[in-house]
Amino acid sequence: MRHGKRGVLLGATGSVGRSTVQVIREMEGGLVLQGLAAHSNVDAMFKLIQEFHPPAVCMVAPEAARALRDRMQDAGVEGSRVLDGPEGLVELAALPEADIVLCAIVGIGGLPAVLSAVDAGKDVALASKEVLVCAGDLVMRAVAARGVRIIPVDSEHSAVFQCIQHRGESEIRKIYLTASGGPFRTMSGERMRQVTVEDALRHPSWNMGPKITIDSATLMNKGLEVIEAHHLFRLPFDRIGVIVHPQSVIHSLVELVDGAVLAQLGVPDMRHPIQYALTYPHRHPASLPALDLASIGALEFEPPDIERFPCLGAAYQAGRAGGTAPAVLNAANEVAVGAFLGSRITFAGIPQIVDRVMQAHEVTTGPNLEEILRADDWARKEATKWLLKD
Ligand code: MG
Repeated sequence: MRHGKRGVLLGATGSVGRSTVQVIREMEGGLVLQGLAAHSNVDAMFKLIQEFHPPAVCMVAPEAARALRDRMQDAGVEGSRVLDGPEGLVELAALPEADIVLCAIVGIGGLPAVLSAVDAGKDVALASKEVLVCAGDLVMRAVAARGVRIIPVDSEHSAVFQCIQHRGESEIRKIYLTASGGPFRTMSGERMRQVTVEDALRHPSWNMGPKITIDSATLMNKGLEVIEAHHLFRLPFDRIGVIVHPQSVIHSLVELVDGAVLAQLGVPDMRHPIQYALTYPHRHPASLPALDLASIGALEFEPPDIERFPCLGAAYQAGRAGGTAPAVLNAANEVAVGAFLGSRITFAGIPQIVDRVMQAHEVTTGPNLEEILRADDWARKEATKWLLKD
C-alpha cells in the first residue's frame, strides 16, 4: 500500500488493540503511529512506545500516566508526550498529525474521543460498537457535516461494508448479520440457567475480550450490532436481520433489491477487518491463513431463538425506541455482565437486569452528548440498585 498513512490507536492494549498492533507491525510502515492510548496498562504501553516511538500517548487513568512518565524518565526514553485522563484522550483523537483514528476502547468511554476525531476531520476506524449504539444519530450527523468516514472494524459490519461498496440504500433490500450463536446455541433453556462464567467464556469461534464474549453468549452482542448497523448503513430495523451461522465463515450478507445476495467470507480473525479498515480503499497482502472451504465442508444456518436469548429482542426494542434507549440498554447490560463475571448474578440474571432498567427508563428523544452520558450514568445506577436487591 502507499506509505505514509498516519494513525492514532485508542485502546491499544485491549484485545482489538493488540490485534491492531500486530497488523500495523506486519504492514511495515504502511501505517505510521502518531498516537496511542490505553486505560492503565503501563507495562504494555511502555513496550509499545519503545517499539513505535509515537509522538504522543495517553493513559486514561491519571495514576497510570504518572507511572508511565516515571518509567520513561528512569529508562531515558524520550520523544513521546504523555497525556492523561478523558481530556487527554479527546486531545489525542484530534492530533493534527493523524489521518485516521482507530477506536478500540471497550464501552462508551470512546464516544467523546470519536466525536473529537470526527470534528477534527479525521476518518474513524470504529471497533467500539457502543459509540454508534449509544450515540449513532449524533455521531453520524457529525460525520456527514464534516464529510469524513466511519469505517467499521466489527467483522459483521466490515463484511456488509465490503459487500455494499458504494451502493445506495435504495438498492439494498435487507442485510443479514451472522451470529455464531455462542457456546449455548444448542443448550436447553433449563440447562442455560446453570451455566458458569467459565462456560460462557468459552466462545466456539472468536477469540475476544471477556465482556464481548459474554455478550456473544447472550446474543446481546448481535443486538448491539443490529443497532450499530442501523446507523452505519442507514437502514430501518425491519431491514436488518440476524442469522445464526456456527462456523463464523460468512461474516455477513447483503440482499440487493434484485434478489442477488452478496456475502463476505474469511477465517474468523479480527486482523482481517482491522487491516481492511486501515488500508481502505486499498488491499494490502496479509499473512493470515487462507480460508479452506473444502476442509470446513459445510456451512450451517438457523434462525436465532429469541426466547432463549431475550437480549436480542431487547436490543431490537431499544433500537426501535431510539433516543436514549440504546444507551440505557448498553449501560444496564455492562453492569449486568460485570456482575455475572464477578459471579454475583446468574447468566439468566443478565437479561432480567436489562429488562428491569429498560422498563424504568423514560426515553429522551434526539439526545445530545450530555443527555446520552446522563442516561448511561442513570442506567448504571439503576442496574446496580437491582443487583443489590437480588
Ligand atoms: Mg462482531
